[in-house]
Amino acid sequence: MSINLDTAKQNLLKLKDEYESRIEKIEDHIQNPQDDLNEHWEDQAISYRQNDMRKNLMTEARQNLIYVDNALGRIENGTYGECEVCGEPIEEPRLEAIPYATLCMEHAE
Ligand SMILES: [Zn+2]
Repeated sequence: MSINLDTAKQNLLKLKDEYESRIEKIEDHIQNPQDDLNEHWEDQAISYRQNDMRKNLMTEARQNLIYVDNALGRIENGTYGECEVCGEPIEEPRLEAIPYATLCMEHAE
């Protein structure tokens, strides 16, 4: 076991913060759409499209937040860094790039 769990935990907590503040910001924008509504209908159309984009980003951030929480749970129960399919350790560079990865490179494809 060569993964540094403290570092992993710090990375995960940082990500959690990032996703949480991103979700908050997007929610703000969606709830206050008048902020970027303009008088011209063309601009309104753009604004609606941007809202769609924001909703997608929020869905993604929420999904990632779940992954991050799960990864933090795996640190607690000692299964962090194990591939869910083969049980082998996930490659270190992969965990550095995606701290909430649950699959080794082979099984992630
Ligand atoms: Zn695997």
